[in-house]
Amino acid sequence: MEAPELLSLNKFNVNEKEAHIVINKEICAQCQDKPCLIVCPAALYKLDKNDIIFDYAGCLECGTCRVVCKNKGIIKWEYPKGTFGVNFRYG
Ligand code: SF4
Ligand code: SF4
Repeated sequence: MEAPELLSLNKFNVNEKEAHIVINKEICAQCQDKPCLIVCPAALYKLDKNDIIFDYAGCLECGTCRVVCKNKGIIKWEYPKGTFGVNFRYG
């Protein structure tokens, strides 16, 4: 199976009341390289003109965005609480 097909097997229990990752769009607008656009395996960071659009639903909880974000645009990163978040399934 290819990666997109494998990823589609995962199930998500999204906490609609509380995001586990929050970005500050003003800080992101000043970030020149925006590595989050490239490294997120779920492609959750998108660019709309110069604005970063981010949706935490679908997060694989890999932590890569947190590591590469050197400009502190990610103002909150924590694992989803309780039973929320990704449930990996391998087929
Ligand atoms: S933790 Fe991983 S999957 Fe989730 S938003 Fe960051 S890079 Fe994407
Ligand atoms: S790397 Fe960090 S500061 Fe830069 S655009 Fe992405 S989230 Fe914002």
